Amino acid sequence: MPQAKTLETIARIIGAKNLLTHPSDTKPYLTEWRENYRGKALCIALPLSPKDISEIVKLAAKEKLHIVPQSGNTGLVGGQIPFDKNRAILVSLARMNKIRELNPTNNSITAEAGCILANLHHTAETANRLFPLTLASKGSSQLGGLLATNAGGHNVLRYGMARDLTLGLECVLANGKIWHGLRALRKDNRGYDLKNLFIGSEGTLGIITAAVLKLFPIPKGETTFLAGLQTPQQALDCFHWAQARSGGALSAFELIPRIGMDFVLKHIPETRDPIRNPSPCYLLGALDSEISAEDASEKAQAILSELMEKNLIKDAVLASSEARREALWKLRESMSEAQKREGASLKHDISVPLSKMARFLEEAEAAVKAFLPEARIVAFGHIGDGNLHINISQPVGMSADGFLALREKIGRILYDLVESFDGSISAEHGIGVLKRDELARRKSQTELEMMRQIKRALDPDNLFNPGKLL
Ligand SMILES: Cc1cc2nc3c(=O)[nH]c(=O)nc-3n(C[C@H](O)[C@H](O)[C@H](O)COP(=O)(O)OP(=O)(O)OC[C@H]3O[C@@H](n4cnc5c(N)ncnc54)[C@H](O)[C@@H]3O)c2cc1C
Repeated sequence: MPQAKTLETIARIIGAKNLLTHPSDTKPYLTEWRENYRGKALCIALPLSPKDISEIVKLAAKEKLHIVPQSGNTGLVGGQIPFDKNRAILVSLARMNKIRELNPTNNSITAEAGCILANLHHTAETANRLFPLTLASKGSSQLGGLLATNAGGHNVLRYGMARDLTLGLECVLANGKIWHGLRALRKDNRGYDLKNLFIGSEGTLGIITAAVLKLFPIPKGETTFLAGLQTPQQALDCFHWAQARSGGALSAFELIPRIGMDFVLKHIPETRDPIRNPSPCYLLGALDSEISAEDASEKAQAILSELMEKNLIKDAVLASSEARREALWKLRESMSEAQKREGASLKHDISVPLSKMARFLEEAEAAVKAFLPEARIVAFGHIGDGNLHINISQPVGMSADGFLALREKIGRILYDLVESFDGSISAEHGIGVLKRDELARRKSQTELEMMRQIKRALDPDNLFNPGKLL
């Protein structure tokens, strides 16, 4: 079928105004958040229902075209960007943003894949419930992408990753069939757990169109604290102590290095240093209480006092109001934005076992500095989960292109080290195109072959997101 005829058929399925082909309309969908990837596609399709998607999938299969699913376009590894002008249909889930059911008795919410995360939070709150998945891109990232990347964020410590929060899925498969798996069951042992194949599959196995998610009671109280530290090892010592003392109430535990704090204070309006004396690094923690805000505060205060007595921290602040809490989180959540303003950066989302984290960080910093002494290393993030973002900012005085040309060499240095520490080269952002070759190099042949077999079984003609992940 000639391209014009294909476009006509898609327009008939979804309505002409929901089919975008003009460069000024397609640009936002084809440009990745950090502008690291600029894509090409035959068209952008904005369907409204699983049935629309099913028809597009059947057409694409018949015409030997490709489908790249996209939700909020905040992915950091290029998975949501198509690169084939003649054969790629980008299917955006953005219009499929309905909440289908909010069920406080089941503690569940059924939502379509285009729901923005912040809207899910607000809707859950209307029933006095919490949907705990949260990350800095919550105003843009959408449910489909969050599930397809098995997103993490900073509540993983207490509630787990996207996978742990999902009860059921609805997906469009490569043969165009719609899999109706929207079950709100906590227990269901009828064979293989199919939903877990699609979660984390980065759009390579099918299109997630809706999901049933777990909700939780909103904690009666919550408090956030920031403490200055001398070393990341101290952050880990504090973490173990605080976790033991809090009885599982710790919901976040993040590391912020001084250089990251400096970038934020310099570039992000309305931020200020909450602790007068600067420290080499900081921990940002959050603690929930099922009793009251005062209880959360008292528990956090007691923990911080003990940490001071143990000489693990010198200075600390506790957020006494919602505004203070937001101000503390802004320091952490603006880290990527602030770093962007310091020039080019090379980002490495890694995890290592907690027991090896401090030594890993020391060796990683030394290895990068040995290669590029002027490198500005910003190692921050979810240290309580054993997950750090080791971002390296362009050295002052070096050109962006010259620095970015070192991507592979610096990646190799860090990923070799991660491997030697039994860690992962992707803790939460996924593989996409950015780490595809690295994955092929580093995952065992047995695991890669199992992954390829799953891909062949569910998508034999490589219709979904070719060239990504595998
Ligand atoms: C400022 C910032 C902070 C971030 N912080 C975190 C963080 O703390 N933790 C974290 O885990 N991530 C983080 N991310 C990364 C990103 O927000 C997550 O990966 C998020 O899950 C992507 O959601 P999205 O809707 O934007 O998906 P997209 O970017 O649109 O897509 C991501 C991947 O999912 C696939 N996909 C999208 N929709 C579907 C669907 N319906 N069915 C099947 N496949 C689909 C795409 O093909 C692509 O491979 C951050 C990003 C930014 C910009």
